[in-house]
Amino acid sequence: MSKRQYAVIGLGRFGTSVALRLHTAGQEVLGIDINEERVEDAELSVTHAVMADTTEEETLKSIGIRNFDCVIVAIGNDMQSSILTTLLLKELGIKKVIAKALNKNHGQVLNKVGADWVIYPERDMGERVANQLLSPNMLNYIELSKEYNIEEIMIPVSMKEKSLRELDLRAKYNISAIAIISKGEIIISPSPDQVIHEGDMLLMIGNKEDLAMFANID
Ligand code: ADP
Repeated sequence: MSKRQYAVIGLGRFGTSVALRLHTAGQEVLGIDINEERVEDAELSVTHAVMADTTEEETLKSIGIRNFDCVIVAIGNDMQSSILTTLLLKELGIKKVIAKALNKNHGQVLNKVGADWVIYPERDMGERVANQLLSPNMLNYIELSKEYNIEEIMIPVSMKEKSLRELDLRAKYNISAIAIISKGEIIISPSPDQVIHEGDMLLMIGNKEDLAMFANID
C-alpha cells in the first residue's frame, strides 16, 4: 500500500484509536491537539505530534496541513471547534475531511461546512451491538444502503454438507452468496456445486430483513 499522509486532530479516545491503527499499519500520521498532555501521551500512536489550536487558520497553515490528503477531525465535546476546524480544512483545500459528530444536528452542520464523511461513533457502535444481538450468526456486516447489506454469516448447522444448489438460498431466502470463507480460505463467487461445511461462513448480499431471517436459523 502506498503511503498517504494522515492528520488526526483531537487526541482523545477516538482520535488516538484512529491514529494508532493507521500508524501500526505503517502509515504516516500527524497527531494534533490543543492540550499539551494529550500531545505527549500520543507519542506511541502517531509519527509526529504537535500542539496547536486548529480553529486558527494561520496555525493550520503553519503546521503544513495543506500537505495532507486526509484529515480526521476527532474533536470531542467542543462542537464549535469541530465545526470551525472542518470549515477551515475544506477552505484550505484538503481533499478528504472526516469528522466525528456527537449528534444529528452536529452532523448536519459538519455536512454543510463540507465534511466529506461524517461519522457517529456511538450511534454506529450501539447499532452494531444491537444487530449482533438480533442475529447471533451474523459476525460482521457492511451497510450498502438503508435496505441492503453484505453480511458475514456463520452457516446454520442444519445446512452443513449441502451444496449451494441444494440450499437454493436465492429462491428460499431471497439472498445471494458472494463468497464462502472456509478454514481461512476465501472462495469468491462460489459455484452452485460448492459444498459448505460446518464452521464455514457465507458472505451474503441482500435485503436486511431477509438476511436477518437467514442469520437466525439454527
Ligand atoms: P473522546 O470522546 O474521543 O475521548 P475528547 O473530547 O476526550 O474525545 O477528545 C477530544 C480532543 O480534542 C481533546 O484532547 C481536546 O484537547 C482536543 N481539542 C479540542 N479542541 C481542539 C482544538 N481547537 N484544536 C485542537 N485540538 C482540540
